[in-house]
Amino acid sequence: MADPLTPEQRKKVMRSNKGKNTKLELAVRKGLYARGLRYRLHGSGALGSPDLVFKKRRVVVFIHGCFWHQHPGCPKAAKVAQGREPKWAVKFKDNVARDKKNIEAALAAGFRVAVVWECAIEQKRKSSDKREATLDFLAEWITNRADRKIIEIG
Ligand SMILES: [Zn+2]
Repeated sequence: MADPLTPEQRKKVMRSNKGKNTKLELAVRKGLYARGLRYRLHGSGALGSPDLVFKKRRVVVFIHGCFWHQHPGCPKAAKVAQGREPKWAVKFKDNVARDKKNIEAALAAGFRVAVVWECAIEQKRKSSDKREATLDFLAEWITNRADRKIIEIG
């Protein structure tokens, strides 16, 4: 069976197995740290294994790559031809299902939840306006918006 992914997509699949400290995650961490926020990394399974935990503020942040986590409607999400999905493509569905469960776990534990998508942080152009705006919004929500239980940026 032919590989339904382009070589570029294939590369991304391979790369995405690298683990936790991705460039994307580091960009979010750096931005929040610069805004005076302090957090712990890699929260427990009871909180849905979030990337960042703000324990006192009862906030967790999930940082998702658009490709690997299948950002809905995003051009960076993986496109797998319908009806001829190879076995490994099931991984994408598993990821999406797991993300949903993790968010529910965090909410059930009484935490507020932010989902930050890659495309709100990373960009090809040199201008970092969008990233800074994303981080400003996120920092403001973490500190001052206890009324909003869940936000998604991207
Ligand atoms: Zn996206």
